Amino acid sequence: MCSNRSREFFRRLSQSIPCFIAWSLLIVLSTIYFLFLSPWLTIHLWKYLTILQGVFLFFVIENFFLATFTDPGRYSRAPPDENDDSETTFHKTVEIHGTQCRMKWCQTCGFYRPPRCSHCSVCDFCIDTFDHHCPWLNNCVGRRNYRYFISFLLSVLIHMLVVLSLSVYYLYKNHENLSDVSSIISIILIVFIVVLIIPIGGLTTFHLMLICRGRTTNEQVTGKFKSNINPFDYGCLFNCSRIFSSSNPPKLLTKKKKSKTSYQIEVSDKKSKSKNGTNKTKHYTMTSV
Ligand SMILES: [Zn+2]
Ligand SMILES: [Zn+2]
Repeated sequence: MCSNRSREFFRRLSQSIPCFIAWSLLIVLSTIYFLFLSPWLTIHLWKYLTILQGVFLFFVIENFFLATFTDPGRYSRAPPDENDDSETTFHKTVEIHGTQCRMKWCQTCGFYRPPRCSHCSVCDFCIDTFDHHCPWLNNCVGRRNYRYFISFLLSVLIHMLVVLSLSVYYLYKNHENLSDVSSIISIILIVFIVVLIIPIGGLTTFHLMLICRGRTTNEQVTGKFKSNINPFDYGCLFNCSRIFSSSNPPKLLTKKKKSKTSYQIEVSDKKSKSKNGTNKTKHYTMTSV
């Protein structure tokens, strides 16, 4: 019992190490930039630079925090009395916008996974519109936190590009004092950012491509819509506005009993918009075919 608990504790601890590294890199590198380079740049380049960068860094941290700690869309498990093992071999099919989508039985959660839902082996939950499990967030990326995730990627990329450009500028203007602490700090910042900007830039570009095509990472890597039409692709512009402007759906993780034969999913309707301009969602009840 005790060893199980300590094993679980160390498992959770090891899972949170990449997230701790990511937070440390962001906070430590930004702090040394603000302490050593920002004062000189504010005097010699632009007096509002530090304030503007400080506000933008707050936006970066806010999105990182929300992506890390927001429930990505965890489904509650079916109660044991509804979890019937005899169902485990079955699939169900639903039609969404004329395309047949298969729902797989989740043995762990005890219900048919709605389309776009997948069970995360790390979090041990079924996640609504599962994108991927991100070790740097120590959280899944799903329907409820995808907006924060992509906002974080875009904002941190801009933050890194600005700090990189200003560090190069500082070094150029102070090249005769390379042994100076601030010059050494600017070299360290340039090295770190050049190493980090390649994977972060690649990941951001990949996710922007996925948003335009109305796909998740999971659907892309498993080739889900290779042979049939993607019923969740509403066109590049609408796909983008759906990610950035639609209201956040409520939490799914409740103690309410879930029926395993039918439940509702939400599909955005691009033809109708609510009075406040946000995209309306239609509720479809899924039944077996
Ligand atoms: Zn599950
Ligand atoms: Zn996960």
